[in-house]
Amino acid sequence: MAHILVTGGAGYIGSHACKALKQAGFTPVVYDNLVTGWKDAVKFGPFEQGDLTDRARLDQVFAKYQPVAVMHFAALSQVGEAMSQPGRYWANNVGGSLTLIEASVAAGCLDFVFSSTCATYGEHDNVVLDEDTPQLPLNAYGASKRAVEDILKGFEAAYGLRSVVFRYFNVAGADPEAEVGEFHRPETHLVPLVLDAVAGKRDALTIFGTDYDTPDGTCIRDYVHVCDLVDAHVLGLKWLQDDKGSRVFNLGTGTGFSVREVMDQSRRVTNREVPFTIGERRAGDCTKLVSGSTRAEQELGWKPSRSTLDTMIRDAWGWHQTGHYES
Ligand code: UDP
Repeated sequence: MAHILVTGGAGYIGSHACKALKQAGFTPVVYDNLVTGWKDAVKFGPFEQGDLTDRARLDQVFAKYQPVAVMHFAALSQVGEAMSQPGRYWANNVGGSLTLIEASVAAGCLDFVFSSTCATYGEHDNVVLDEDTPQLPLNAYGASKRAVEDILKGFEAAYGLRSVVFRYFNVAGADPEAEVGEFHRPETHLVPLVLDAVAGKRDALTIFGTDYDTPDGTCIRDYVHVCDLVDAHVLGLKWLQDDKGSRVFNLGTGTGFSVREVMDQSRRVTNREVPFTIGERRAGDCTKLVSGSTRAEQELGWKPSRSTLDTMIRDAWGWHQTGHYES
C-alpha cells in the first residue's frame, strides 16, 4: 500500500486523517515531535519521531518509506500564543515547513496537502470569505500559514511541487468510534473547554468578549466536523494523484455559530448547565469567520455529513467521556 507521510499525525486532526487514509487503502506514516501530539494517538500506521526542522531526520524518513505524498498538519495553532510568542510561530510553522518542503522535493515526492487556515483572511466586514478573498491575517498564526502557502507557490514554479491547500474554519468533534479525539494540554479550543466546564474538569468557561458586533455580542465561527474535514483531505490526495493541479479549498460549512450558541447546544446535548464567566476579548480574534465558498463540494465532491453543531458536540462529548491519551 502506498505510504503517505503525515506530519502532525499524533495530533488531533492528523490522527483522524490517519484513520481516514487507512480506510482509503493508504499507509499513513506519522512524523511528529510529540510536543503537542500523543504517541497513543498513533494507531493506523508506523510512527517516526522527529522535528520538522531536522532535515537529516526527514531525509531518513523519506528514504525509508518513499511516500507518494505528504499531508502536512504539524504546526503550532493557537491564536493567543501566536500573539505573545510570534517568533515560535515563524520558526516552527514557516521554518519547519520550508525544511519539510525542501526535503520532499529532494526526495522526488511532489504531491503535497497542506493545512492552512481561515485565519489567513483576517477581518473583512460583510464580505463573503471565498478562496479569492484577500489574505490579511491579524495574528502570527495566520501570517505563518499564509507564508507557507507562498512557499508552496514558489516551489511549484521552480520544481513542479503540486499542492492542495485547505483553509480550515473551526474544527470540532471527534471520531464517533472514539478511537481518536481532541486532547490538548493545555486545552484552548472552545468545544472541549465547554465540555470540560460541563463535566466539572474546570470551574467555568471564560467567554472572550461579549461586545462584538454580532447578534449576541460573542464571536461567530464556522464549525466543521473533524471527520468531514479529513475526508476532504483524502479527496484532495486523489485530486493530486489524478493530476488536476494545485488548488486552494476552504473547508467550512457556510453556517456560523456564536460562542453562546455553542454553549447552548452543549447544554442541550449533555443535559447539564455550562458554568461560565465573561472575560475580555482575546487579542488576535476576528469577529466573524464563516466560509462563503462551495468550491470543495463542487470541485472535490466533498459532502460533509457530520457537521451539524448537534453531531459535532455529541461526538466530542462521546470522546470526552471515554477517551484520553496518557503519553
Ligand atoms: N473562545 C472563548 N473562550 C475560550 C476559548 C475560545 O470565548 O476559552 C472563543 C474564541 O474567542 C473564538 C471561539 O471561541 O471566538 C473559537 O475559539 P477557538 O480557540 O476554539 O478557535 P479559533 O477561532 O481561535 O481558531
